[in-house]
Order: sequence, then C-alpha cells, then structure tokens
Amino acid sequence: MIYSDSDIKTLKGIGDKKAQAFNKLGIFTVYDLISFYPRKYEDRSLIKNISDLNDGDTCCIKAVAADDPKLSRIRRGLDIVKFRAFDSTGLIEISYFNQSWMKNTICKGEQYYFYGKVEKRYNRAAMTNPTFEKDEAAGNKTGRIVPVYRLTSGLTQKNVTDAVRVAVDTFADTVPEILNPEIRERNELVQARFAYKNIHFPADLGSLELSRRRLIFEELFLLSCSLGLRKHGIKKENGFIISSDGIRDFLDALPFTPTSAQIRAIDECSIDMKSGQVMNRLLQGDVGSGKTLVAAALIYNAFRSGFVSALMVPTEVLAEQHCKNLRELFSFSGLRIELLTGSTTAAEKRRIKSELKTGNIDLIIGTHALFSDDVSYTNLGLVITDEQHRFGVKQRSAIVEKAGNPHILVMSATPIPRSLALIIYGDLDISVLDELPPGRKPVETFLVDDSYRQRLLSFINKQVEGGHQVYIVCPKVEDDPSEELKSVKRYTEDLMRKLPGISVEYIHGKMSGKEKDRIMSSFMRNETGILVSTTVIEVGVDVPNASLMIIENADRFGLSQLHQLRGRVGRGSEKSYCVLVSDNTGQDVLNRLNILCKTGDGFVISEEDLKIRGPGDFFGERQHGLPEMHIADLGVNVNILQKARDEATALLESDPELKREENRALKEQVGFLLEKNLILN
Ligand code: ADP
Ligand code: MG
Repeated sequence: MIYSDSDIKTLKGIGDKKAQAFNKLGIFTVYDLISFYPRKYEDRSLIKNISDLNDGDTCCIKAVAADDPKLSRIRRGLDIVKFRAFDSTGLIEISYFNQSWMKNTICKGEQYYFYGKVEKRYNRAAMTNPTFEKDEAAGNKTGRIVPVYRLTSGLTQKNVTDAVRVAVDTFADTVPEILNPEIRERNELVQARFAYKNIHFPADLGSLELSRRRLIFEELFLLSCSLGLRKHGIKKENGFIISSDGIRDFLDALPFTPTSAQIRAIDECSIDMKSGQVMNRLLQGDVGSGKTLVAAALIYNAFRSGFVSALMVPTEVLAEQHCKNLRELFSFSGLRIELLTGSTTAAEKRRIKSELKTGNIDLIIGTHALFSDDVSYTNLGLVITDEQHRFGVKQRSAIVEKAGNPHILVMSATPIPRSLALIIYGDLDISVLDELPPGRKPVETFLVDDSYRQRLLSFINKQVEGGHQVYIVCPKVEDDPSEELKSVKRYTEDLMRKLPGISVEYIHGKMSGKEKDRIMSSFMRNETGILVSTTVIEVGVDVPNASLMIIENADRFGLSQLHQLRGRVGRGSEKSYCVLVSDNTGQDVLNRLNILCKTGDGFVISEEDLKIRGPGDFFGERQHGLPEMHIADLGVNVNILQKARDEATALLESDPELKREENRALKEQVGFLLEKNLILN
C-alpha cells in the first residue's frame, strides 16, 4: 500500500464522522496525517519531587492520593473536588473544578501521574485541574514528551493523538527516504523513519530537535527541487536573439551616469537576451534605485534588434508617468512609444491596435489592457512588468501564452530578503539594484505619539506654505466605532477645518479607477496640498514635490510596507520627512518601528520584517505562490533553507529531470507537490 495515497479512513478507529473532522484540518490521506506536526509539546518526561516544585512550574509529579477526595459545592454551578497527594518528599493539594466525577475516580492510597501548573504559597504546593493518569494505564502519556495538536470541532486531543499513533506505527517504517545518505551525512540529518516517529512521539528533547531539523530541511529541499525542476522546464524555451551592440548610444544620451548596479543589471539581462534562451528575470531594487533605466536600456536593445517591447504597470497614472518620462529619454532615438489604458479613446485604441499588428510601434506602455483579448502583437520581443506583486502570477503566464515567447523582466519594488526571493521567484533569475543614484537625501524619519498632534499640524502647515505637498496615510477609510484607528474621511474633514487655507483631498481603494486617477493627477500638478490616503498610494507614483509623509497608526503596518510608503517622499531635491505616529507603547512595537528611523535600506528592513512577521506579509494573500509550510519557517530557518537549496541545485545539476533510480522517491514527492498545484506560479 502506498501510504501517501491511502485515505485516513483506512486507519483503525477512523470512521466517516472523524474523517470529516480531519478533512476540516486539511487532512485527507495518511501522508497528510503524519505530516500534521504537533503545534507544541508538553514536556512530561521529567518527574519532579514535590519538595522541589516552584511556583509557576508546569510539570509532572508522581504521587499517591492521601485521602478520599471531598466534593463541595461553592455555589450554584460551581463545585470543587479536593484531595491531598504525597510522594517521598512532600505533600501537595490538588483541586478539580466542576469535575465532580473525580470524586469517584481518584482512590485513596493509589498512585497517579499529575501534570499541570504549580502554585506555591507559604511552602504549600497546589495544582488545579491537572491532567492525570494512573500509573500503569496502557499507552500512558506521562513520563514522556507529549504532542499537542491543532484541533477542530469534533476532534479531541486524544482523537488526534491516537490517530497519529496508529498512522506512525503502521507507516513510519515504510516512509520513502528522499534524502540520499550523502546529503544526510553532509548536513547531519537523521533518517526519515526516525524523524516521522520522533516529531510526534519524541523519545527525548534531543531526538525531537534532530527530527525537526531533518523535516524542515526536507520540506525546503522538496520545495527547492520542485522549483528547480520547473525552472529547468522553462529554461529550455527558445528565445529571440536581441543584441546589446547599440547600447553605447543609449548610455551616451542619458542625462546622468548609471550606477554600477544599474550597469551590472543591464549586463545580466543582455547576456540572457542574446543567449538564444528566453529570459525570465526578476529585477529587485529599493524604491528610487532606478529600475526604469534598466528597463529602458533593454527596450532600446530590443528596438535596435527590430523587436517590439511592452511595459505593463498596475495603474493608469503610473502608465502615463512612464510614458512621459520614456518619451523624453528616447527623444534622441526615433523609438515610437504609445500608451494604451482603460481610458484610451476607442478611436485611439483602434489605431494603436492596428499599428501594433503592423509592428509600427516600438514600445507600448499600459495597464493589463495591454493583454486583453483584442490586442495582438507582431514581433513582441520583450515584456516588462513593473511593481509586479500587483499582478497575479497567473497573468504572467497568460502573457507568455499570448505573445509567443518574449523575454520577460519582472520589476519588483519590494525588497525581499534574498532567501525568500529565491523561493518565491524560484523560477526566475534575479538581478539586484543594491545602490541608489548619488545625491539622494535620506528621508528623515521620526516616531511620535499623540501628544505631538499640535506640532504635527504646524509642521504640515509649514511644508505646504513652503510650496511642498504632504501625504497622510491612515489605516481605515471610514471611522469604525469598534476600533480607534484613524480614518481617511474623518481625517480629511478635520484637516479642512483646522487648515482652511489648504486644499485637501482623499483617495482610497474603494474609489473607481477614474476617480483615483483624477485625484492623483491633480496632486501631481500641485493643485492639492495634502493628500489623505489609505495604502493605495504605495505603488510607484512619483511626485517629487511631496516632502512630508505622516503615517497614522503606524504600528498597524509591516515594516516593508512602511518603507514602501515612505518611498513616496524624498524623490525631489528637497529634504524630506516621514513621521510615524503610534500610541502603542509595547516595547517590541517601538523597537520595530525604530528600525525605520535608523535605516533607509529596504533590504535590511525586509530582513527584519521577515524575522518578525514571517513571509506572508510580503505579498498580502497567497498570490506569491508559496505552498503552505508544514514545519519550516522561511523567516527563521534561513540557514537551513540555504543548505537545502544548495543541495537541491547540486542534485538537479547531476540529474536534471530526476530520472535516476536512486532519486525515484524524491521525484514522486516532487511530482506530488507540483501536481497538487501547491506551487502556483
Ligand atoms: P524605481 O526603482 O523606484 O522605479 P525610478 O526608475 O523611478 O526608480 O528612478 C527614480 C529617479 O531616479 C528617477 O527620477 C530617475 O530619473 C532617477 N535616476 C535613475 N537612475 C539614476 C542615476 N544613475 N543617476 C541619477 N538619477 C537617476
Ligand atoms: Mg518604478
């Protein structure tokens, strides 16, 4: 029997009803069950002497009931069973609330294990509602490290533990070993068999740690192999050959000198694009690192080689901004640029579409309208998506399907720790802009509490009077009586009242695209002094005249997100400020926010964010395509991740399609992961 496919109902003791409850936890097969790792453990392995107990200990004792339990009613609905118990070192008082049956369960003179929290007053020890077990009870749990599982209605801790016990007893010895002996040895990993047994029912703490390490490694290794295998599949595609011979003309026409990071990224992409294979590359760079220039260089190369490029961005405002900037940048070259968005007029659209068909346009810039059904391309050689995490990963493959096999560059403004990027974008090669253009002034960042309200107001006033503009970010659109969070609408009303001479507008995600575009455009033209907003302004809009950003309830946001928001200011030549407002007094929260005051390096910040809040935060929902991790934590297990990746890479180099017999078990597991579509992108 193949354990991975066996329904849990084949296990002794699991009928339809229990199976349904397990299904709710996402457990369908025996494999699901043995990889349903405990949420935590209770260490009942160490049995303490009563005389050694300390107040607050949670531990196990072995004691004899000293008297018959006494049941007394305290008031209606509250009764208590009390008795004393002893071991060779001392006496303890034990009480159970509302468990009157305990009166007839505990027998004077018999020995039991009790596990619970100790209260100690004036040298007298007590336990309330401890779990207990009779000394010789079959399958007893005390005296061991006991797993604690996540539960759902219809399942008790005992149900799950028993089911896992049966699964482990039946199958742990036959679990296929996917890590070969060399890998295990190099990385000091225990065998699968041992790990699956000891992660559930550890012999001791050491075995538990070894098992956990092995399973974390295994999970990350499997993931790396799956991504590697897919990348291998993609890489084989033939790509158009785009030469970079003319790039000097482009560089010479620039109004500034590219940074060495920009040059390196351009080189890396150019090598891909003339290799004969399709480029699939991620360009990562902090806000303001100059990703657009890299994109422009590649667009120029494509143009010189006779290919069309498409630049896709998430909003119309951004599309217009890019169009304006790039027309200027390319004015020397005769490169023809058009803009295609939702608000392009029908006649315009018709013209543009027909010109795209005849290859009369060299660069088309737009929103996802670029790849709607009625648009077709001739000679499309390069597709660049900007601020990619706004696009579903599926959209990327839709483009590839539609447009033949263009080279693809994905630009992401969210610096992601390298470890995570390698996993999330496992099928892409990565270039990093780790250097800002010279002369950038860091955005001076402060953390203040509500007592600064009045001063903040005069600061806003001063900035606007000096001809600058201000962003204010609130976590909510409207007031919500249940939460004391700042809302965009209320805040705007307040400002209008308190600063009557200044034009204030607000913007949020629930508005129509047209409305948002109107407000953004008026802000860009400096017709609005203050823009109150939710996080919708996070995406790459460039208003160099904005010199102050105030972020309310700053503790509500992730560090990377705050950094991203802050990147909206400091884009001009003036000194800029970011004020984080939070009334949260928790030391952890303050430490976290203070990181932003201390550094402007998005990569440093993202590493911290990953440590503190885990990987989920980098991309809202699960659209990053990461499968749910059972045991590994991408924020914490960075070292193991690196090792697992290196091993996976080495293994795939020697056996790219996992065809060798010794890799059969691994291939099966990888196939399982890919087939279940656990990895989406
Ligand atoms: P992002 O990486 O956030 O998309 P942009 O491409 O919008 O950054 O660039 C930010 C600003 O920096 C733009 O105004 C751009 O013209 C300018 N810039 C880009 N590269 C350089 C450079 N090498 N030297 C000086 N300014 C640069
Ligand atoms: Mg940008």
